Amino acid sequence: MDCIFCKIANGEIPSSKVYEDDKILAFNDLNPVAPYHILVIPKKHYASILDVPAEEMGIIADIHNAINTIAKEKGFDKTGFRIINNCGEDGGQEVKHIHYHVLAGKKLPNYEA
Ligand code: C5P
Repeated sequence: MDCIFCKIANGEIPSSKVYEDDKILAFNDLNPVAPYHILVIPKKHYASILDVPAEEMGIIADIHNAINTIAKEKGFDKTGFRIINNCGEDGGQEVKHIHYHVLAGKKLPNYEA
């Protein structure tokens, strides 16, 4: 499968790694929109949340657990942060491997709809 985030997860394409365990990888977004802009992905390929079987939803908890660890390591647990998951066309998902954006390091603007 030609998936850029699978290639990042298996080391075929280098990334600026922030966190890694056996199931999860986090790396700095190439086009940051905040002082911290970290992408958190499962190493296993799922196109989006719609592709995660009910019995494998634990991976979403694993992602949030990684975010918890990263926030405390980087220190933005104290100031706050935003987690974003874009899903599908209208959600603005460009890379079809589920990923969570973690934005921190400044006061983030309110959403526009
Ligand atoms: O949620 P969405 O699919 O739009 O986000 C994809 C994100 O992946 C973008 O923020 C883009 O900058 C990032 N990206 C990256 N490294 C790549 C390809 C995409 O950080 N090699």
